[in-house]
Amino acid sequence: MSRGVFVGRFQPPHWGHIEVIKWCLDRVDELIIVVGSAQESHTLKNPFTAGERIEMLLLGLRDAAVDTSRVMIVPVPDIAMNHVWPRYLEMLLPRFHVVFSRNPLVTRLFTEYGYRVESPPAFSRGEYSATRIRSLMLRGDESWKRLVPPSVARFIEEIKGVERLVTISGRD
Ligand code: NAD
Repeated sequence: MSRGVFVGRFQPPHWGHIEVIKWCLDRVDELIIVVGSAQESHTLKNPFTAGERIEMLLLGLRDAAVDTSRVMIVPVPDIAMNHVWPRYLEMLLPRFHVVFSRNPLVTRLFTEYGYRVESPPAFSRGEYSATRIRSLMLRGDESWKRLVPPSVARFIEEIKGVERLVTISGRD
């Protein structure tokens, strides 16, 4: 049985993340999705809580008809020591054999510990980007809704996510 890890902040999860997860599931039996920076929320870079991100990932995966019984979603707060971060993940997660990442720091840290790291292809990276989605939301441009699965867009509307982002971008 092979198990892989895919780490992200998912602020918010978009179609690019979903495509990466499908790509990973073609290569392993089970995938651990780490919701990183789990301590973060209500900031411009990290507006959503870890719990909200977990819900959105599950909704998005279901929209894409992904078999979620092959997926584990684990929230992990950051630590101040990059060098030992892979060891910290080894402590928190079930055993894994391969790491999937396009993030240079994540790739570097796991490679230094001797892990096999595979880089998924970019899926319309210019378009499917959480940074872009957050900036569209801030500008009041509703086209962000087509960059995320429909259930994720509905969830963000339900929790008034755009309103949250706009509020925290304000000045006193
Ligand atoms: P992210 O949500 O921006 O991206 C997650 C992954 O998806 C990345 O590999 C990214 O390249 C990929 N991706 C995004 N859009 C894509 C697309 N359209 N096509 C293909 N791939 C796409 O998350 P991130 O910022 O990369 O997450 C890394 C996490 O690891 C952060 O939470 C960070 O804090 C954590 N981390 C923590 C430590 C520590 O605690 N010391 C150290 C390293 C990393």
